[in-house]
Amino acid sequence: MTTEFALNEQLLEKINSFSRKKLTEQEVYCFPVILCDNEIDRDGERFSVAALGRLAKLFIGKTGIFDHDAKGSSQSARIFDTAVMQDEKRITKAGEVYTCLTAKAYMVRTAGNADLIAEIDGGIKKEVSVSCSVKRKKCSVCGAVKCRHVKGQTYGGRICHTILEDPDDAYEWSFVAVPAQVGAGVSKSVCMGAAENTENTENTEKAAELAVREQLISDIMRKSWLGDPTVSLKGFREYLTTLTTEKLYKVKQDTDKAHENTVFNDSPCITGIIKEDRKDGNNSYKI
Ligand SMILES: [Zn+2]
Repeated sequence: MTTEFALNEQLLEKINSFSRKKLTEQEVYCFPVILCDNEIDRDGERFSVAALGRLAKLFIGKTGIFDHDAKGSSQSARIFDTAVMQDEKRITKAGEVYTCLTAKAYMVRTAGNADLIAEIDGGIKKEVSVSCSVKRKKCSVCGAVKCRHVKGQTYGGRICHTILEDPDDAYEWSFVAVPAQVGAGVSKSVCMGAAENTENTENTEKAAELAVREQLISDIMRKSWLGDPTVSLKGFREYLTTLTTEKLYKVKQDTDKAHENTVFNDSPCITGIIKEDRKDGNNSYKI
């Protein structure tokens, strides 16, 4: 799986949709981040693949800060593009293909953030922490919101864990520099709404899957078009909508492979998951 990318006109256009002043390629610094994934973390929780697809939309335009205490506005970056990506060679503890939410972020180059940019360029490992709200947490064994299964125990050969589903808002993300030897990687934090929503389970699942499909289709279309501007967009979209979600993932992988240089390449920062518990406000808690 690759996450690095070269800044091209199309990406610059996306950046400029968030910027008051039209920025040039020389004025911006872009970097890839992996926001979260479907691997079971040390608290026995993970995002569903559908939730990652939904978060992909929610994180567009969201601002991230560095080291949690930004020294000023120059120490912030904004996400201008996201994609759900899979690494077929990597299977999660839950037995799924490893899937993560990757993002492209940009900062405006200033004298104040030159050191920070040099640090990121130098490959200092970073962990990304995201904050969002999800409507539902369900048991991986039985699918219920509340049940007697115990997290961490094995049932029928599979570890019981909690699946985070149906995110409804994304608040912020932050980027923390950590010493490379501490095996750092991606961390995430999740704010849960206190009310566990059990209604309309089927509908939310359908909506979530639709969101993933839409994301996949738009990714495939964008990359295919980048590679071959003669592709008939309408006919191609119609064809894609007839495919199963599984098949769409496959087509996306093939498209990614065909246009490797125009999309993401390996991120330097994903080696594990760190997460901290922290009570936060009345009705929600950060994980
Ligand atoms: Zn259960």
